[in-house]
Amino acid sequence: MGGGFTGNAAALEAARRGATVCLLEAEIIGHGGSGRNVGLVNAGLWLPPETVIAQMGEAAGRRLIDELGQGPGRVFSIIEREGIACEPIRNGTLHLAHSPAGLKDLQERHRQGNRYGAPLELFDGFETARRTGVHDTFFGSLFDPRAGTIQPLAYCRGLARAAAANGAAIHDRSPVTSLTRQGDVWVARANGHEVKARHLLVATNAYQLGIETPFKAEYTAVSYCQFATEPMPEAARQRILTGGEGCWDTAEVMSSFRTDLAGRMIIGGIGNSDGPGAAIHKSWARRKLSSLFPALRKLKFEYGWRGRIAMPADHIPKVVAFGPNAYAAFGYSGRGISPGTVFGTQSAVALLEGNPDALPVAPIERYSERFTALKAAYYETGAALTHLVSPALR
Ligand SMILES: Cc1cc2nc3c(=O)[nH]c(=O)nc-3n(C[C@H](O)[C@H](O)[C@H](O)COP(=O)(O)OP(=O)(O)OC[C@H]3O[C@@H](n4cnc5c(N)ncnc54)[C@H](O)[C@@H]3O)c2cc1C
Repeated sequence: MGGGFTGNAAALEAARRGATVCLLEAEIIGHGGSGRNVGLVNAGLWLPPETVIAQMGEAAGRRLIDELGQGPGRVFSIIEREGIACEPIRNGTLHLAHSPAGLKDLQERHRQGNRYGAPLELFDGFETARRTGVHDTFFGSLFDPRAGTIQPLAYCRGLARAAAANGAAIHDRSPVTSLTRQGDVWVARANGHEVKARHLLVATNAYQLGIETPFKAEYTAVSYCQFATEPMPEAARQRILTGGEGCWDTAEVMSSFRTDLAGRMIIGGIGNSDGPGAAIHKSWARRKLSSLFPALRKLKFEYGWRGRIAMPADHIPKVVAFGPNAYAAFGYSGRGISPGTVFGTQSAVALLEGNPDALPVAPIERYSERFTALKAAYYETGAALTHLVSPALR
């Protein structure tokens, strides 16, 4: 249930293993976070490794760090194996220091990453400016050569196509309206039909529709919005992100940018561009573009969109085993391309083999959180206030 990275990766893996697979998607494939994503194929979580280990314990923490460290490799090899046309570029990502404190954070992440086997490199301000084409702004950057960028919606659709080619039945515009247990099977109702299945994966992350179900994910929903310019002129393409790295920064109200194959600059930041703060976020994006790339200040934004990120309080993804042969995987905290692919694939393996050890995290029976609406309002207010005052126009 759910046609994002998690559901489609699971459908593909299960179909390749010879299972009879039916995927039900309420809207269209990639309707949720997977089609609204920045496109950064990160190697790991947003949390530094020592924090992951402090929260999960040594063995479980290392396991998750290792699995997700290999995540981009798995994503790019699926893309290659299945011939998915999604603009894959594996030239790394740059985590940009927006302040001296941000640089200290990156130095610490560099130390921790290297300690746990990540081949990270720390660049100074000069090298960062050379790679990004952004001058006098960033104090340095952390380069992760394992990572890269993709066109996320195209990747998601490609996963669905590959699953279908391997025999999975993929049904979009099929919202599951109830999930019940009858004897030893699960019954999902959608569009007046019933699907009976021995194994069930709920992969609805931050987009679950209110249905009658024994499981409902709890997390803080954080909005993130993006704006894509018309294609940049050739002269700008020769100077800006010529290596194609994807970028995001160390600011608490984080922002990101990358270019696509057509030469569009895609700028994003935390904030709900469909909500009451819409005008603030849109005006911020324009000022941000002018401030980072003065040569692009006259380019029009041709596209704008936003999505919801599912953020658990501890920022660690969850697998909830809410019934017999049933999992729900969610809560990637804005890191869902590699984790969604890994969690989806491994959920299929764990369900079909009846082996929870195949999962990157130990499944739990229930998961609940409090004050999530309040926390979501806090994030949105913080983003709107920050975007109201920064950056000043150059
Ligand atoms: C704006 C934005 C930018 C992001 N940028 C990045 C990034 O650069 N790198 C990265 O790694 N991660 C990023 N993420 C996170 C990543 O996109 C998500 O973690 C990931 O897409 C989650 O995938 P999923 O398949 O679990 O869920 P989703 O892609 O959200 O899919 C859930 C699906 O379930 C469907 N659904 C809901 N209810 C029902 C129902 N009742 N019946 C049937 N179907 C149902 C929904 O329609 C939806 O299509 C970003 C997220 C957002 C929102």
